[in-house]
Amino acid sequence: MSRVLIVGAGLTGSLCACLLRRELANNVHIVLWDKARGAGGRMATSRSTNDSVCTADLGAQYITATPYYFQKHQSFYEELLTHNILKPLTATVEGMLIKEEGSLNFVSPCGVSSIVRHYLKESAAEVFYNYHVTHINLKNNKWEVYRKGSILEYFDAVVLTMPVPQILHLQGNFLQLIDETQKLKLEAGSYSSRYALGLFYKAGVQIDVPWAVKYITNNPCIRFISIDNKKRNLDLSSAEPAVVVHTSVSFGAEHLEKAKEDVEPLILEELEKVLPGLPKPSSTKCQKWRYSQVTQPVQDCPGQMTLHEEPLLVCGGDGFTHSSFDGCIKSALRVLEVLKSNL
Ligand SMILES: Cc1cc2nc3c(=O)[nH]c(=O)nc-3n(C[C@H](O)[C@H](O)[C@H](O)COP(=O)(O)OP(=O)(O)OC[C@H]3O[C@@H](n4cnc5c(N)ncnc54)[C@H](O)[C@@H]3O)c2cc1C
Repeated sequence: MSRVLIVGAGLTGSLCACLLRRELANNVHIVLWDKARGAGGRMATSRSTNDSVCTADLGAQYITATPYYFQKHQSFYEELLTHNILKPLTATVEGMLIKEEGSLNFVSPCGVSSIVRHYLKESAAEVFYNYHVTHINLKNNKWEVYRKGSILEYFDAVVLTMPVPQILHLQGNFLQLIDETQKLKLEAGSYSSRYALGLFYKAGVQIDVPWAVKYITNNPCIRFISIDNKKRNLDLSSAEPAVVVHTSVSFGAEHLEKAKEDVEPLILEELEKVLPGLPKPSSTKCQKWRYSQVTQPVQDCPGQMTLHEEPLLVCGGDGFTHSSFDGCIKSALRVLEVLKSNL
């Protein structure tokens, strides 16, 4: 039985694990490592430190399905809709850019990370959090993978699903095995950066605005605000409200190297101008997304790049497609094809 390591418990990694289980159930032992404390990656749902019931989506907000992808990935949408993991977005959104006529929008009532958790459950993979991969070496026809804490394990195949610059930050002899053209293509992949701030409230606090989601166009710092429980259509009388603020990309770039503790007060100051009189939250969480959304995908390798054939080392993720639910599905399907033909 082949031992496969998937690095990254975001949407691409969890879906790869799930599809691999469904297609090659008896032939693979799937292990998944993530450096974070929990599942989701950039589909992150954070909890208030004071009240674990109060949650907010700090990364992806809602899923937009264009008519093309809604049909192409129909089985994925149907599965999540059947399990109530996705529901149509019915709340009021101000200023949304319509990407394509006929597109449908969906939200996750239990938070966007519930999509990832669903695929992880379906995969029955062994999942380990706080496992930060640092080195990958080819040794005796296996991949020798180190994680922080200097413990190593051997695998027959490895799938890397983190943002492309984080793949290039890894160390080990695998880097010497990648040809120069591939390296140049990987180095040319790029991402925007932005901050997200979650404001968590106690039950009963009223956030008095006529919308659930609003795109802001006239503020240098704030680009997007969501009243997260309202966006997800939760029972407003009993839900603990949470507000999510995304900064603009230019603000993200300008403050990228600052500590998030120093950036949070700047965001709060601008928020007071955009929403004067917003109640004081009971807790907050500031998230720096150094690699937020793909601005330049890796060229000429749709969905995946195979770095080494035997043993297999393949990378995938939105860096090889585009930053969305469908971009991750597309990548996971391509990674699956490579795994199936190799294992
Ligand atoms: C602010 C923001 C808003 C967005 N809005 C939307 C939206 O509304 N709709 C939409 O469809 N998409 C949106 N996106 C894009 C979407 O979130 C991403 O396209 C998608 O989540 C990418 O998933 P992934 O699995 O490819 O990568 P990731 O989610 O980044 O997963 C990679 C995982 O690898 C782990 N990792 C990294 N390095 C290591 C290491 N060395 N060792 C172990 N683990 C490691 C990370 O912890 C992470 O969990 C948004 C993204 C952001 C940041």
